[in-house]
This record gives sequence, C-alpha cells and structure tokens, in this order.
Amino acid sequence: PLSAADLIEPHRICVCVRKRPLNKQELMKKEIDVVSVPGNGTLLVHEPKQKVDLTKYLDNQVFHFDYSFDDSATNELVYKFTAKPLVQSIFEGGVATCFAYGQTGSGKTHTMGGDFTGRQQNSSKGIYALAAQDVFAHLNHRKFANLDLSVYVTFFEIYNGKVYDLLNKKTKLRVLEDDRQQVQVVGLEEVYVSTTEEVIKILQTGSACRTSGQTSANANSSRSHAVLQIVLRRNDRATTLHGKFSLVDLAGNERGTDVNSYDRSTLVETAEINRSLLALKECIRSLGMNSDHIPFRMSTLTKVLRDSFIGEKSRTCMIAMVSPGMASCDYTMNTLRYADRGN
Ligand code: ADP
Ligand code: MG
Repeated sequence: PLSAADLIEPHRICVCVRKRPLNKQELMKKEIDVVSVPGNGTLLVHEPKQKVDLTKYLDNQVFHFDYSFDDSATNELVYKFTAKPLVQSIFEGGVATCFAYGQTGSGKTHTMGGDFTGRQQNSSKGIYALAAQDVFAHLNHRKFANLDLSVYVTFFEIYNGKVYDLLNKKTKLRVLEDDRQQVQVVGLEEVYVSTTEEVIKILQTGSACRTSGQTSANANSSRSHAVLQIVLRRNDRATTLHGKFSLVDLAGNERGTDVNSYDRSTLVETAEINRSLLALKECIRSLGMNSDHIPFRMSTLTKVLRDSFIGEKSRTCMIAMVSPGMASCDYTMNTLRYADRGN
C-alpha cells in the first residue's frame, strides 16, 4: 500500500541558464566571447577559439541544465520554458517561485523586465509582464472560472537583511514568524489588480521608489533582491490564499575581490548578499533532495520566501544569467557552479 510520503509529489525544480549577447561597449573593446550554448541544456566556457568542439573540453568547463538559452533567445522564449509552466501551478493551488541569478550586468533585470528606470525605451516585455498577462488569461479561462479568484500583487525589496515595501514609499517592514511557523511581512501592501497594464504601472511606481535618493540607480539595485508576488485569493472564501507566484530579481552575486577598495558599509552589504545567496542555495539543495529540513531561517530572503520551500505543491525555477565576455569569466564560472545542482 502507498504511504503518505508516496503521495506527496517531490518538489519540482528547474534550473536554466541564459547567455546574453556582447554589448556595444564590450564589442568596442573587442571583448572575446568565451561562452557557447551548443544546445540540449549544455553550456560551455572555453578558450577564445572560433570553433567549439565539445569533446575537447574538460568536465569543469561543460555545464548541464534543464534548459540553456543562447544570446539569440528572446524573453518570450525564456519565459515559455521557465515561468510559464509555473503560472498553471498557482491556479492549481501551488506556490511557485522564479529566481534570476547572476553577476551585475548579466541580464537579470532584462529577463525579469523590472527595468522601468527609463534606461531602455523600447524594452520588450519581461517575465513579470508575461506572467501577469498569463495569469489574467487563466483567470478568464472556463477551467478556473468556478474558483472565483482575485489577483493581488506585492512588490518589495530586501536590502541588508531588511524588507522595504516598494508600493508604500519604501517603508521598512518587520518579518514575523508565528508559532505555527507561518512567516508574515507585517503591513506589506497587497494591491488588487485586474489587468497587465495595472501590474506594469505598479512595477514602474515601485521601481522608481526603489532607486530614489540614490546616486547610482543601477549600482544600488544590484545590491538588493527585488520580489514581485502575484497572489491569487478566493472571493468566495473570505479571500483566503489560493496560490502565489514569487518572481525574484536577486542581488548581483559578485564578491568583493579587491576588498581594500571598499568601505565598511559595502563590506557589510556584500557579506549579507553572500549570506542570503548561500541560504538560498542550501534551501534549494534541500528541496532537491526532498529533505524534511529546509533551512529557511538562514536569511531574510529565504524566510520571506518560506512558503516557496515548504508545502507540497511548490515549484521552483532558477534562471542563471551569464555574461559572455572573457573579462567576466571568473564571475561566470561562479554563477555556473552555484546553479549546478550537483555541486
Ligand atoms: P543585471 O540586472 O543582471 O545587473 P541588466 O538586466 O541590467 O543586468 O543587463 C545589463 C545590460 O545588458 C542592460 O543594458 C540590458 O539591456 C542588457 N542585456 C541583458 N540581457 C540582454 C539580452 N538577453 N539581450 C539584449 N540585451 C541584454
Ligand atoms: Mg538588475
């Protein structure tokens, strides 16, 4: 006979990698592309040669993922294989989480689509908008019509282990855990939305809030994790939670190599980022092993995302972003080793 454990589906984790194209500055500097994506989920970091022969390279230069996207992939394509299947799962009552991981400048924000700072005028839709669009399409689908659901969003950032509400003038919020281990961000603004345009508008407002008062918008945003949550609630059951999708644009994973050049606050920031990214890796690793013990208390990031790790119907997707240039090679290797579940 089946035991209870047999009935619980293993947590499903998908890990992908996306290579961005060389940018204008890199091309001007005659930067060499050292990353190849031969297909079938593989990615290769190699010497600057024209032809790539997979068999010639050492194991530690070839990485395997569920999917690998080369520099010609569009956000739509990446979305289709990463976050899109997760949208379905939240309608089925699950908790879904999608992470964008990588060094600063590798394409996390480009992929998630949270760049509303005006740097890019005609940027295509990112995963935030594409997921929202799909959520509304599902909502109107007859398959889910009997559920009577409403959609809400939250948007916040985690900086130095503190949570700031981007939808409420960047208010600092407390994270509490009750005796049933439920984690709550006290006072987090949850906004009712009914169209994709409304979600985009909220992202714009939130992103502006994120960077205000900073000397360098990009430098600052790369030091914090940004989280957009799409929340489904049942209208017929006193708005109880039905499903939740967290989309996370993680802080840049680069470590301070030239420690002397940083001031104290930068060191504290870096230590906190490293701590939270390590905690995330530990939680995902535990999930992958279907372990009972998920160390979600290790950081604010993993604590706030507790529901993503606990719970039977959760699904996770990690998209590791890499820059193709030789100058970024060390960072790229770090990213690939982090995302590689075998490590
Ligand atoms: P991150 O958020 O990881 O720091 P960004 O998303 O801001 O990096 O990307 C850095 C720059 O590279 C931006 O100008 C962005 O538009 C560009 N970029 C990133 N990924 C791609 C891509 N796949 N195709 C084209 N441009 C990209
Ligand atoms: Mg960014």
